[in-house]
Amino acid sequence: MQMNQPTVKRKFLALFALVLSTGAGNVLADGAVLNLYSARHYQSDEALYANFTKQTGIKVNRIEGKAQELIERISNEGANSPADVFITADAASLAVAAARGIFAPVRSTVLETRIPAHLRSEQWFAFSTRARMIIYNKRKLKAEDVPTYEALADPKLKGLYCSIPGGHIYNLTWVAAQIAHRGEAETEAWARGLVANLARAPKGGDTDQIKSVASGECAVAVSNSYYLARLMGSERVEERNLVKRLGIVWPNQESYGTHINVSGGGMVKSSKNRDAAVRFLEYLASDEAQRYLANGNNEWPAVPNVAVNNEELAEMGKFKADNLPIGKLAQQLSAAQKLLDRAGYR
Ligand code: FE
Repeated sequence: MQMNQPTVKRKFLALFALVLSTGAGNVLADGAVLNLYSARHYQSDEALYANFTKQTGIKVNRIEGKAQELIERISNEGANSPADVFITADAASLAVAAARGIFAPVRSTVLETRIPAHLRSEQWFAFSTRARMIIYNKRKLKAEDVPTYEALADPKLKGLYCSIPGGHIYNLTWVAAQIAHRGEAETEAWARGLVANLARAPKGGDTDQIKSVASGECAVAVSNSYYLARLMGSERVEERNLVKRLGIVWPNQESYGTHINVSGGGMVKSSKNRDAAVRFLEYLASDEAQRYLANGNNEWPAVPNVAVNNEELAEMGKFKADNLPIGKLAQQLSAAQKLLDRAGYR
């Protein structure tokens, strides 16, 4: 079919406008596709990727799955893997991916200047942070009762502590940080104290623990900050009401600071689109992407001084975060699992 003149002209103008809108220095990479293997499943991430496509012309083809499945898949695909970038929502998963050798080291001045040293390794970069906070029932405890992670093992909290399963990745990373700070023997004694204080067998996720604390089934738990933020900003009135029964503590402000975990990612070793992969990682460190990433899941940007306009996070206030190099935690993960097994923290 032959196009008539006005149609051709319209198409040309549309293309011209598109090229202009991508800005100077951004050549429209016609048909370029970046294969992103993602273990982050937040709806808000859609807009984040669409914006990258708008800026660069590179389409993002997202393959979603659980972190462990995606790591397995990339390993099995080997040199033929179509994956360009792998991102996930836990430092331990990043460490496992690195240990399995799926990442290629990335040298980027942009990433090295924007992401603080303790939030990256040679293999991967963190793009947002979340804190492991203490949440307590205000009718049962006071903030002074639980100022630190150490205090959770105090015998006076017998029968009051609720927890996710010992081997849950968030718990493992948290315990790995304890080992890094306090050594194995002291951490094991502490873990036994936690087990002795359990209100019930560990089960569920962080949101379940928050709800159990609010209902009075237990009096205290630890949780990632974004789960609480989600309930605070919930459209359901009963969820907002439940939060009113809770107090929060930023643990260990007088010592090493509150444990933080990260979302992050890196370039896959077999990537055939290395320029696009690095460009994507650098994009994730831009002010705009940092705001999307952080706000979308009620997290904090990894890049310092990027302001997010998030009511719930603002209400939680500022705190001193543990600046233990996140990559170092990986070395303690299997020790953490063994220690928890010995302590009967299942
Ligand atoms: Fe989570």
